[in-house]
Amino acid sequence: MLNKYKVFLFTLGFFLILILLIHLKYESEKFPKKQITEIKLQIDKNKSFDNIEQLDNLENLSNDFDGQANEYITYTLNAGDSLQKVFMKFGLPIRDLNLIKDKLPVNKKIYPGQLIEWKQSSQNSKIIEFNIYHNQSEIDNFEWKNNYYQYRKIVKRGVKVDRYVKGYIENNFYQSAIKTGLNATQIHEIGQALSHKINLSKDVKKNDQFIVLMEEEILKKNIISSRVKAVLYEQNNTKIFAFKYNNQFYNEKGFRNLAKFLPYPTKKLYRISSHFNPRRLHPVTKRITPHRGIDYAMPTGTRIHSVGHGIVIASHKNRYSGNIISIKHTGGYITKYLHLHKRIVKKGQRVKKGQLIGLSGNTGISTGPHLHFEILKHNKHLDPYRVSKMIKQQVQNRKKFYAQTSPIKQKLIGELESG
Ligand SMILES: [Zn+2]
Repeated sequence: MLNKYKVFLFTLGFFLILILLIHLKYESEKFPKKQITEIKLQIDKNKSFDNIEQLDNLENLSNDFDGQANEYITYTLNAGDSLQKVFMKFGLPIRDLNLIKDKLPVNKKIYPGQLIEWKQSSQNSKIIEFNIYHNQSEIDNFEWKNNYYQYRKIVKRGVKVDRYVKGYIENNFYQSAIKTGLNATQIHEIGQALSHKINLSKDVKKNDQFIVLMEEEILKKNIISSRVKAVLYEQNNTKIFAFKYNNQFYNEKGFRNLAKFLPYPTKKLYRISSHFNPRRLHPVTKRITPHRGIDYAMPTGTRIHSVGHGIVIASHKNRYSGNIISIKHTGGYITKYLHLHKRIVKKGQRVKKGQLIGLSGNTGISTGPHLHFEILKHNKHLDPYRVSKMIKQQVQNRKKFYAQTSPIKQKLIGELESG
């Protein structure tokens, strides 16, 4: 009896010790494992963002053995990922996703390479904070507060610094500009800015010099944005300037080229079936009749847009022109759109450049579906093909313009001559 009792106690003790050992082993493995996954997530974050502050966090985390230092889980979206897929992958509550989606501005899209980050409640698995990083400085932030997700757009602002970039032409402008660290968008912008005087894709010469003033925004040692503020291009001792002012480029006298009219009244260019011709043999009447516009061959129903801002002075139908719309613009210009299938604007209506005014057709005296388009200046017909669609526009406040650009101009010249 006594022996049986001893054996029982011994066996019980043995199992208790065994359970304790298993438990200890489990505990010792549990935390380091969690630690590793979180460090990995942090490293991913650093890869995409090269963010110094995150590095600091990583170091703190490594020294912290309870594994609770960072409750945020970070994930970089892959091609084909949707938020739905990510939620399923991580077993996150879909109900929360739907609530978050309700608050996400409609124009915001997610794309591969983008970083998302979330924090869950320790009691239940509810997502209490959700972040979508659009870039290093713009974050969509959703925080669970008072039983709903509160949306905030967080924009981190950096410090603005001016930087002068200098280069000279070896072969072409693009290559030389890339060498100085400018990107393709900025190079295109500079080309546009100087187009009033020089075509940088054609007219450059070896050893021409250029100076670009860049404004860079720096956040935590990273350049988060950079924009072209001014350009000086020198060829044969001639200096060409462009200054950004009110978000547009102007020359040093404060002028800019402005597209008054669209190049043609359709989205894409259609084949010209008949040019402007004051002495044309009319295809229907066989008499010499001036062709006072351009005919563009296009299928009936093609969308027709006003080439400029203006007021509709005629919108009606007659037996020659079919459905016709006339629009009056500033500077004594009138544009006319003939043979339309459908007119969408009414007489007296104000229209914007590019606004849809009707659909092309084959109405009136016409040999096939086309748009007959005319431009008149002071009631005289011009060849729409040759009318300069550009006008010069000067800044409204020249004093202010000079006050702002003169110091930059001197600095650009100084940089150029500093060798
Ligand atoms: Zn015509």
